Amino acid sequence: MSTVNNRNSGNLTPADAEKEVMVQGWAQDIRNLGGISFLQLRDRHGIVQITAPKKKTAPEIMEIMASLPRESVVKVTGLAKASKQAKGGVEVLPSNIEVLSAAASPLPMGVIDKVNVEADTRFDHRFMDLRKPNVRAVFEIKSQVLSLIDQYLVKNGFTEVFTPKLVASGAEGGATLFQLRYFDQTAYLAQSPQLYKQMLMSAGLDRVFEIGPAFRAEPSDTVRHVSEFISFDGEMAFIESQRDVQQMIEGCTQAVIAGVMERCKPQLEILGAEVTLPKTPYPVLAYEDAVEMVAAEGMKVELGEDLGTEGEKLLGEIMSRQGNDMYWIQEYPEEAKPFYIMEKDGSPYSFSFDLDYKGQEISSGGQREHRYDRLVERMEKKGLDPQSFNFYLEAFRFGMPPHGGWGLGVERLVQKMLDLPNIREAILFPRDRVRLVP
Ligand code: ATP
Ligand code: MG
Repeated sequence: MSTVNNRNSGNLTPADAEKEVMVQGWAQDIRNLGGISFLQLRDRHGIVQITAPKKKTAPEIMEIMASLPRESVVKVTGLAKASKQAKGGVEVLPSNIEVLSAAASPLPMGVIDKVNVEADTRFDHRFMDLRKPNVRAVFEIKSQVLSLIDQYLVKNGFTEVFTPKLVASGAEGGATLFQLRYFDQTAYLAQSPQLYKQMLMSAGLDRVFEIGPAFRAEPSDTVRHVSEFISFDGEMAFIESQRDVQQMIEGCTQAVIAGVMERCKPQLEILGAEVTLPKTPYPVLAYEDAVEMVAAEGMKVELGEDLGTEGEKLLGEIMSRQGNDMYWIQEYPEEAKPFYIMEKDGSPYSFSFDLDYKGQEISSGGQREHRYDRLVERMEKKGLDPQSFNFYLEAFRFGMPPHGGWGLGVERLVQKMLDLPNIREAILFPRDRVRLVP
């Protein structure tokens, strides 16, 4: 045999014709028509047709083709031939087929069947579900999103950090804390890196970011909440105002979406997703104005309350009519915001913001309270015991610069960018109130 060229199934082109090639992948579909057998071999890059005419193929190979269960993993060696009928314009005439792993049958779910499979069945057999190119494409895009975030922040002088996920106290409110045994102590899974990234501002790291898991015991079933998600957090010291933080996020989300449009064309095509770059500058709505805007369309939101899911959605529709996919809602009532947010003195508001994307919050942030006394006051006002935050408060007593930052849900960004109906579509193995397996 002449030299064998290792190829990815989906990468074979007519230029490979008349070459001896080796391809490996999953047997997606097999047709035995008596005089000829066809096998569609699939890998991450696509599909190649293995064509075995009885007259030109060894009987052992015809036998394997006849009995091969769908979704088995095989290695095929053979001659590549130009073909008008085959996808990609090339097929392989097999001189050898090795079954690397035979699939059991029946399959827990189909890979190419058009029938609609229940979401639960899909997530129960996620390894199988992910064999579908459109399901997998989301994760190739998500990987690019993370790499683009990294690139943008490093370019802007940020240091990537990793803070503990096993912690002694939460930052985002007690209701969504997961508690666990930690030797002889009680610990919690981190809801966000909030306290730690702030402490790093006192450490002089200046600009830090973290991309890591965050855990929230979310009691409700929604299409935008899960109990484990990837949080993209940033914190910046020596800011003049929260505007500095907003500008960083604006630049970053622009770079990410533009980067996906450029790098992920094949995946976007498989998904049939039309990604567009949100108009800049992102419009800034004062919280009060946002409440008025949804009220003008007939929705009741009490001043001082969160807009709520429905309010956010309605605001998204209003903004979309003006051609705006991303926009800020800022200066929320301080009462609605956590203790670490800075109050806007002389008003009931705070230096806080949300970034909404097509009617859904994807990020929250603001300027932090860096003055020790005011911070302690705020904790007490929120009914928290400053004693249990000593490790954190100490960092504010020995030189803490003014600072601000954000937390952004990576899966929410991917979900809205690709118009996915549910955040779970952007998570390999989602975790929620009822799902802990696989
Ligand atoms: P929401 O009001 O939508 O429940 P939140 O205001 O409680 O979110 P934050 O504490 O502001 O959430 O967290 C920062 C970001 O983390 C959010 O803007 C969102 O993108 C993401 N996030 C928060 N909770 C979840 C969750 N349960 N599942 C997925 N992403 C989440
Ligand atoms: Mg929020």
